[in-house]
Amino acid sequence: EEFIQRMPKVELHAHLNGSLTTAALLELGAQKYGSTNEELEKLVESFKVMGESLDECFKKFKIAHDLTNTREGLAHATLCVIRDFAKDNVVYVELRTTPKQNENMSKTEYLECVLESIRSARKEFPYIIVKLLPSIDRSQGIDSAKSTMDAILKLHKKFSDIIKGIDLSGNPNVENFSNYKLIFETFRNMNLPLSLHCGEVENEEEIREMIDFGMARCGHGTFIKESNLQKLIEKRIPVECCLSSNVKCGTVSTYDDHHFKYFLDNSHPVVICTDDFGVFDTTLSKEFIIAQKTFGLSKEQLFTLSKNAVLSSFASEEEKQSLMQMIENYFMK
Ligand code: IMP
Repeated sequence: EEFIQRMPKVELHAHLNGSLTTAALLELGAQKYGSTNEELEKLVESFKVMGESLDECFKKFKIAHDLTNTREGLAHATLCVIRDFAKDNVVYVELRTTPKQNENMSKTEYLECVLESIRSARKEFPYIIVKLLPSIDRSQGIDSAKSTMDAILKLHKKFSDIIKGIDLSGNPNVENFSNYKLIFETFRNMNLPLSLHCGEVENEEEIREMIDFGMARCGHGTFIKESNLQKLIEKRIPVECCLSSNVKCGTVSTYDDHHFKYFLDNSHPVVICTDDFGVFDTTLSKEFIIAQKTFGLSKEQLFTLSKNAVLSSFASEEEKQSLMQMIENYFMK
């Protein structure tokens, strides 16, 4: 366990507002409401109680969203998430977040606030590289996706060192990928790689469409079967596996049943990720420990998983090289 804790880790699938711990939410609450009042504590406690289904889990994000709807809250939340990843010896992280519009911020301002916070966190946390994949929330419809795209288009040049790709996420039971194809074509033409939540629920047709459309990485990939699975494997599309998240949301019944094992056994590139470490009360180290205990991972497999994560990342070649070096040094010593 200590070996995993100290291991330099790479996180490729983490939603900003889902990565706020109870402590971070309390900090944000105190900042927003002046002091940690009882009501807030109750709210945060309710955050810890797990929902039984994916739909229930989605309700959890509301608490975080209420605390990050100001620039101050959002900037501090970004800092908390980076701090907590750094504390867990994560050396490279790709955060994701859906730009939100409210009475305090436009979508562009939301995105800019997160990006500026990431930039300014470099001084305080020099040992972690942080990137951002702006998210399109599929549940919000096409008009919202367009305005999110506009915000990304406005900022991607100024922050080309941080915006490294685009994520499609949100409740997979709502809306369909085909409606968003045009938007994702625009991103593809800008050479922004796509990480799509794909096969989080059973939907053979949509999974086929996503694989045919093309994606640089696949989020979850829980229900990818038969010909779709074959295509995913042929194309060597890396899969981001989030063990606790899937088991706690009930899309996978037990850790033993997790599809991570299938990819691992078939030497398909697979990456261990947290998804929402606040909501699911985990850390990247804990996820590795769960995988290690469930599937009896050897040191060599941990090494391969770490290298896969670097190779699957959207980091620059130079960054990849230095991350590889760091990982090799750790495993070789
Ligand atoms: P945010 O984008 O920073 O607000 O992070 C929370 C959001 O991430 C949620 O509202 C969802 O849209 C998305 N999200 C978090 N976890 C999942 C997941 O497991 N599947 C799909 N979307 C998710």
